[in-house]
Formats: sequence, structure tokens, C-alpha cells
Amino acid sequence: TATPPTLAALSAKNLYLQPLPPSHTPLPGKENFGRYMLSIPWNNVTGWGQATIEPRRDITVDPLSGVMQYAGTCFEGMKCYKTEEGDLRLFRPSKNFDRLKRSAARLGLPCEWDNDELVSLLAKLVSLESDLVPQYDGGNLYIRPTMIETGEAYGIKASPYASSALLYIVTAVNLGKALYASAEEEGKGIKLDACKEYIRAWPGGTGSYKLGANYGTVMIAKKPDFAMSLWVHTEGGEDYISEAGAMNVFIIKQAEDGALEFITMSLSNGIVLPGITRDSIIELLRKHGANEKDFPLDGMLRNIRVVERDISMSEITSSLADGSLKGMFGCGTGVVVVSIGQIQYDNQMYTIPHNPLVLLLRDTITGMQRGKIEHEWSYKV
Ligand code: PMP
Repeated sequence: TATPPTLAALSAKNLYLQPLPPSHTPLPGKENFGRYMLSIPWNNVTGWGQATIEPRRDITVDPLSGVMQYAGTCFEGMKCYKTEEGDLRLFRPSKNFDRLKRSAARLGLPCEWDNDELVSLLAKLVSLESDLVPQYDGGNLYIRPTMIETGEAYGIKASPYASSALLYIVTAVNLGKALYASAEEEGKGIKLDACKEYIRAWPGGTGSYKLGANYGTVMIAKKPDFAMSLWVHTEGGEDYISEAGAMNVFIIKQAEDGALEFITMSLSNGIVLPGITRDSIIELLRKHGANEKDFPLDGMLRNIRVVERDISMSEITSSLADGSLKGMFGCGTGVVVVSIGQIQYDNQMYTIPHNPLVLLLRDTITGMQRGKIEHEWSYKV
């Protein structure tokens, strides 16, 4: 192997690849992790450095670095799938890297690179792990792009203040079924606890960015008997939902004009993470609602409408009582699409009707991700 050149732009052409040693064995407890990692350092004098793919290793940082002291870290979650023919697919990977740019910018971390170059580097990384990627439904290689602030950061600095950072990507093999897949197949859905004790996001906060701090501060919220927390915040005396756990939420409601509405929280007040699954479902349903041909849901749904607006808990409970609530689901990279079957709110348990359209949406998104439904969103590695 060549000696790594010292400095290069974030570019797939300058990749330095250090193969696994012949004697490589995974560390105990880390058997499900990908064997390699991609890392690209950055500093505020010379910019992006050498992109390297090397055997997965621990990272050393200064005890006073921004990541250790001030949660200077953001990340992404995406998956690589293997088709029945054995080739690898990513799902809209540029969207994840756009979101990583937004998150990094919010932290004053470097946020300029060419997504095509980063996708090429990721494609190289996952192709090295190809033999580990499960080929059946639900199995995949989970991908965790991460950015950390590595520079000393305890003093007061100008903004953007990061002096150095590290962008890295590691992977882990997901065996078995997708998260909560059986809840969907059995037509039950998952159970959520509407959480008012720990507030995940609020107007003007950082809820719409994928920052480590947004997750670390609400880890203790999840109750044992529940799949996830339903995030609730109060405005003007009214409780509003935003998301649940690490997924966006939709309600399905019968509107007075006869249309079936798919309603999800709008992104405009900065409370909700702009999910890529959310975006895909909205686009899918809107195109379908507009009767565009060549769309995979063809023939199943006609009079539908997508609405992005606030959803209050009282709207959920009252539409449940008058029968207009026809279903509720969460969506995200982890769960894909899953029905919400029950919600505990103010010491009362509410049972949400199960809607078969949720499974249809799930199969459509999964089909695209796994290359069973050919679509431009599926990126061929
Ligand atoms: N909301 C939150 C808080 C999340 O962490 C995630 C997972 N990234 C999502 C929603 C879903 O986003 P995506 O569809 O891009 O996975």
C-alpha cells in the first residue's frame, strides 16, 4: 500500500485504502460491525484532508475537544440493501449528506463538500463489506456517517468556531427483520407513550437537525413497556405532537369532502427532523394523488390528499371519538413504515384503528429500497 499523501480535497479520487490485515478477527461484542471505516479529517487552515478507508479503529480526541465538552457532534442514519441479484443499493444517499451539511452548519462544523464525491466514497466502503450485507427482506447494512468537532474548544471562539473536525462513516450489519416488522405484519402496530416530561424540541430549538445532543438529552424518556415516546410540546395550552422516537408521524383522516387525508407535522417551525422516508412518502402520495401514471401505488388509492400542518393531541382523541381517524403511522430509516396501534396520554390508553394502507406504503418503500421496484431513488453501488 502507498504512503498516504498529506492533503487532498474531499474526493473519491484521492482515496487511500488500507486493507484488513490477513489475521483480522472482530473484537468481542463487535462482531456485527462492519470491518472498515471511512474517515476524512478537516481543519480550518488546509480544509479537507486525506480520505481513508482502513480497518475500523478507536478514535482519539483531546479531552477538551468540542465533541467531548459541548456535544459537537452530528450524524446520519442510512442503510445499504442487497437485491435478489446480489447487487448493493443505497436509498437517496445525497439527501442524507444534505442533511448532514445542515446539521454540521448548525454546529459551526465544516459543511462544504461535493455529495457525489462523498457518495462515491461511501459506495467504496459498502462494496468492501458486500459479503456481510444480508440479502433477505429486513436485513441490511446500517450506515452511520458522523461528524465530530476534534479541536480544543473550551475557550470562547468566534463562530463558526471549529478549528478541526473529523467526518467518519462506520457500518453495522442488521440481521433479522426490520424494527417492529412483526407489529405491522400482525396488524397490531406499536405502542407509544405521549411524553410531556422530557421535551425533545421546541420552536427556535435544534429539533430539525440531527445533532447528537437532541438524542442524548431524551434517552431517559423511553418507558419500558412502550416501543417509543411520542414527542409532545405545549403551545397556548394545547399539546401538539411532533415525532415519535426516531421517526416522523402521519395520521390518516377522513375529511368532510370525502378525501382521505395523510397529515403530518409541517417542517416550518423547526421542531421536526426532515425525514427522508417522510419526504419520500409525501412525494409518492402527492404524485399518486395527482394521478401521475408510472407510480407504484397505482390503482390502490384515488381520492387522497397530503397535508403538512400541526397536529394536536386533542385532534387525535376527538377524531378517534367521532370515527374520522382512520389510522396513524411512523416512518424512518429504522422502522421504514410502521402502524401506531396504541398511545398512552394523560394516564389513558387510546387504541388507534389499523389501516391496511400502511402496509402498502411499507411494501412500496421497502420494494424501492431493495430494488424490487425500480426507481430513481434507489442508488446502484
Ligand atoms: N425523526 C427523528 C428524530 C429521527 O432521528 C429520524 C431518523 N433519522 C427520523 C425522524 C426519520 O428520518 P429518516 O426517514 O431520514 O430516517
